[in-house]
Amino acid sequence: VVGGLAASLAACSSGGSTDAGSTDGAQVADCNVGISMPTRSLERWINDGEGLQKKLQDAGCTVDLQYADNKTEQQISQIQNQVAGGSKILVVAAIDGETLGPVLADAKKQDITVIAYDRLINGTPDVDYYATFDNYKVGQLQGQYIEEKLGLKDGKGPFNLEPFAGSPDDNNAGFFFHGAWDVLEPYVESGKLVIPSGKNPEGEDGWKAIGILGWGSDDAQAEMDNRLSSFYTGGEKVNVVLSPNDSLALGIEASLKSAGYTAGADYPVITGQDADKANVEAILNDLQSMTVWKDTRALGDRVFEMVQSIAAGEEVETNDTKTYDNGEKVVPAYLLDPEVVVKDDVQSKLIDSGFLKASDVGL
Ligand code: BGC
Repeated sequence: VVGGLAASLAACSSGGSTDAGSTDGAQVADCNVGISMPTRSLERWINDGEGLQKKLQDAGCTVDLQYADNKTEQQISQIQNQVAGGSKILVVAAIDGETLGPVLADAKKQDITVIAYDRLINGTPDVDYYATFDNYKVGQLQGQYIEEKLGLKDGKGPFNLEPFAGSPDDNNAGFFFHGAWDVLEPYVESGKLVIPSGKNPEGEDGWKAIGILGWGSDDAQAEMDNRLSSFYTGGEKVNVVLSPNDSLALGIEASLKSAGYTAGADYPVITGQDADKANVEAILNDLQSMTVWKDTRALGDRVFEMVQSIAAGEEVETNDTKTYDNGEKVVPAYLLDPEVVVKDDVQSKLIDSGFLKASDVGL
């Protein structure tokens, strides 16, 4: 594959010269890729952006990597600059999945190919491919973990559950929630899971009412503080928290701590996603139960392959052509497999693979 790289990427350039004879480290002029990431405030996006940038640069591409501070307007103007600046391929992890239509229409006029990265971009025909982890499965793994851990299948319960959902403007958040809720809702209906706060989402879009806009830890903490001080006043305990990702889990854990919860038998089951350093440390200290790990290096590799194929004018490999309808079209997608990480897997899955260093997580 590496041998074909120089030739592939050469097609990305308009008249740029290639060193067709070399294999590793082939340099290509004018392969121009714009990468637009949501924020530097979350570890994963830093790894995603910088990892992909390096891979592309090593292959000789020109890369413009931008972070938009979780502000939609900023992301739009950064993409505008990339379009004006000669990018031929755009890789975009959208902040708000609904608002990029106009800027992508401009991109299409310049024949730019657009890859939605991790999050789908909605309401526009001008998105060509989508690369992500299987978002429904992320939620399903969280739901199944809770089901198993609490012994719900064996009829155990009732347990007090507090459900959280991700940012309502992030297309992934609905998939995460539904994946989990399809497992858990039957237990809510049978009374084995009780929601003291009454935050029980119903219907297709009900989760948005409990979504934390912008995925902030502080907002999750404030919401959990509220629930604890309003609905757990008579000595009741939270037994389980469905948290869609690690940034929310961190806020929820801080809230539990200030309410006096400590690691041990009475500490709730708490889910997460991303394998962020602080959360993996929390897992090692029994303050979070699991995280759904998405190896962002594998996603970067996949997008790198896509860029290569696009540049070579070859067919782009996808493995899902039915799930991700963005309202204008079903976007051909490549879905990667997420996996559960618990305390016992931290060494073998996260550290041995080089995803994290032992020193990152207090080991
Ligand atoms: C990503 C998650 C991430 C969340 C917050 C989602 O779209 O898929 O990995 O935790 O955004 O940034």
